[in-house]
Amino acid sequence: MSFVFPAPPTASVEVAGTEDRFPVRRIYCIGRNYLAHRKEMGNDDRTPPFFFQKPADALLPTGGEFPYPPQSDNVHHEIELVIAIGKGGKEIAVEDALDHVFGYSVGLDMTRRDQQSKAKDAGKPWEAAKAFDHSAPIAPIRPVSEIGHPAAGRIWLNVNGEARQDSDLDLQIWNVQEGIAHLSKLYEVMPGDLIYTGTPDGVGAIKVGDVMSGGIDGIGEVEITVV
Ligand code: MN
Repeated sequence: MSFVFPAPPTASVEVAGTEDRFPVRRIYCIGRNYLAHRKEMGNDDRTPPFFFQKPADALLPTGGEFPYPPQSDNVHHEIELVIAIGKGGKEIAVEDALDHVFGYSVGLDMTRRDQQSKAKDAGKPWEAAKAFDHSAPIAPIRPVSEIGHPAAGRIWLNVNGEARQDSDLDLQIWNVQEGIAHLSKLYEVMPGDLIYTGTPDGVGAIKVGDVMSGGIDGIGEVEITVV
């Protein structure tokens, strides 16, 4: 057996401090997952999280250039914690979920906001808004063996040095273990899956020439130039 043309390369992400790479199977993303002042409000009335996907070949390593995508005049940055799954499973219990994590990273869920608004209004899928080429910038993955499971920490994004997003992981509505538990009810989670876990407030538009730089304390930093 041979392929009729050369097979595309396996998508992968650098593992920080090693020569190894994390092979990527799927990229899942969680929809809205931060609610400012949730703690102060004591509000536990949470609707279940929802998920969408990006293709694995949408990954863009930190230091790279993000080509401003066609068919949009309003492209937004969304800085997010990324979970890297190392062990698969179905219907994973919340209390077991952290055993399935290989490591963590920080990424950008780049979004064609105008396409998303049109899709929402028309009751159509978000595919073109979320799953376009180069829409998933990412930093190297930090293994759990090195950093554990950070449940809190500043998450921020600057554009051209100006603060746009500034929040904390502990404001996530669904934490890492809850996100994995919910996702694994819908799909069999497999090693190589990445989960972008939603963005805090402060999302906004970027333009050609902008430099997006952001990070999460204790996990890493990502820097991308818009071209
Ligand atoms: Mn997002």
